[in-house]
Amino acid sequence: MIPVHEAKTIIKSFLNGTGSEIVNLDKAGGRILYECINADFPMPRFDNSAMDGFAVKAIDTMGASKENPLTLKMVGASYAGKPFEGSIQSGECTQCMTGAMIPKGADAIVIVEQSSGFSDKEMVQIYSQTRKGNHIRIQGEEVKENTLLIEKGKNISAGELGILAAFGFGEVNVARRPAVALFSTGNELVEPGKSLAKGQIYNSNMFVLGDMIKSAGGKIVLQDVISDDKSSLKTFITSALNQADIIISSGGISMGRGDYVRSVLIESGVQEHFWKVNQKPGKPLFFGTADTSLIFGLPGNPVSSFICFQEYIDPVIREIQQETPLPPMKATLTDTFSVEKSKHRFRFGKYWINLNGKIMCSAFPHDGSHMLTSSLDANCILEAPPGEFDLVPGDEITMKRINWRN
Ligand code: AMP
Ligand code: MG
Repeated sequence: MIPVHEAKTIIKSFLNGTGSEIVNLDKAGGRILYECINADFPMPRFDNSAMDGFAVKAIDTMGASKENPLTLKMVGASYAGKPFEGSIQSGECTQCMTGAMIPKGADAIVIVEQSSGFSDKEMVQIYSQTRKGNHIRIQGEEVKENTLLIEKGKNISAGELGILAAFGFGEVNVARRPAVALFSTGNELVEPGKSLAKGQIYNSNMFVLGDMIKSAGGKIVLQDVISDDKSSLKTFITSALNQADIIISSGGISMGRGDYVRSVLIESGVQEHFWKVNQKPGKPLFFGTADTSLIFGLPGNPVSSFICFQEYIDPVIREIQQETPLPPMKATLTDTFSVEKSKHRFRFGKYWINLNGKIMCSAFPHDGSHMLTSSLDANCILEAPPGEFDLVPGDEITMKRINWRN
C-alpha cells in the first residue's frame, strides 16, 4: 500500500500528451486550445457608430439646440456592412447606423433622437451640439493588432468561442481527446430501466464515470458491462488495449472471490505500478500501463469510484490535453471533519463564499463508500491526511472543486 501523494507522482511519470488536431469552430466547444490565439487585426476593426444617428463634423454643431436647430444637408447613408463611399464637407451629414463605418470627413455622431429624424428629405435638423468622437467606437480601442487573446491550454467555452469567431478563426487547433475504454464488472449489475431479481442492483457507476469522462474531455470508444468471468474480461481488455489511450474499470479489483480484474489485466500484458493506496474511500485502486495506454482499476463502491475518478483520472485526462489546471484551494470548515488515524480521508463536501468573501465548506454526514447520495449536492471533495485529531470548525482543509459544478 502506498500513500496518496506517491500514487499521484507515479501516475504523473507515465503521462504523455495527446497531440493536437484541427477542428471547425462549431466543433470546438469544450475542447482544449492547443495554440495561443493572437489578434490578426484591431477590434473594432474600423471606426464605427455606437448609435443610430447622423455622422457630422462636430464643429458644425456648435450652439445647436431644440430652440435653435442647425440645418445640415444629408448627402447619403452609411449602413452596417454598407459604408458611405464619399466624404462629407462642412454643412453636410449622412445617416449612420449602429456598426456602420464613419464616413470620411465626419468626426462625431448625433443620435437620431436629437434630430428631425430619418427620412429621405435632403435637409435635416440637428437639435443638440456634439463633440469630436461622440458615439464613435474607435478602431483598436478594445484590442490592438497582435494582442494575445487566449492562451494555450484554455478550455473553450462560450466566451472563447465568441472571441475566436469575432476574429475570424473558422478552425482551431485543439488537443486530441484521449480515447477511453470503460467497463464495469459485476454479476449483480442490471441496467436501469430493467427489473431487478433478488440480490441484483442497478449499474450506476457506468453513468457516473461515463459522464465524468466526457466532461474531462475524454472520448469513449468502447464501453461494456462484463460479468465476473475471466474470459469475458480478457476479451474486453484485449480489445481495449488495442484502441484506448485510457482504460477505466469499475469493480472486481478488490480481495473478493470473483475479483479478477487485476489478474486478467496482468495476464493481458499490463504492467502494474501500484495496487492499493492508503486512502478512504478507494483503497484497492489499481494503476498500470501497457505501451502508452494508462489503465485504472477503480473499486466498485460508487463513492470510491467517483472520488478516485475525480482525484486521479480527471486530472490525467485534462493534463494530457495540456489543459491549464485549476489552482489548489483551501476552505474553512464549519463542521467537524473526522480524520483517520492511518488513512488519507476524502469526502464529498459543499463549499460556498460567505458574506466576508471567505471560502467556507462542510462535509456530508452520510458518506459511507456505498452511499452515493452524498454526491448529490456536492460541489467539492475535501481531504485530510492521516492524523490523531479531527479537524474542527474554523480549521482550514484542502478542497478540490468538482470541475463541472459551481
Ligand atoms: P466490487 O469492487 O466489485 O467488490 O464491488 C463493491 C461494491 O460496489 C459492491 O457492493 C458492488 O455491488 C458495488 N458495485 C460494483 N459495481 C457497481 C456499479 N457499476 N454500480 C453500482 N454499484 C456497483
Ligand atoms: Mg464486483
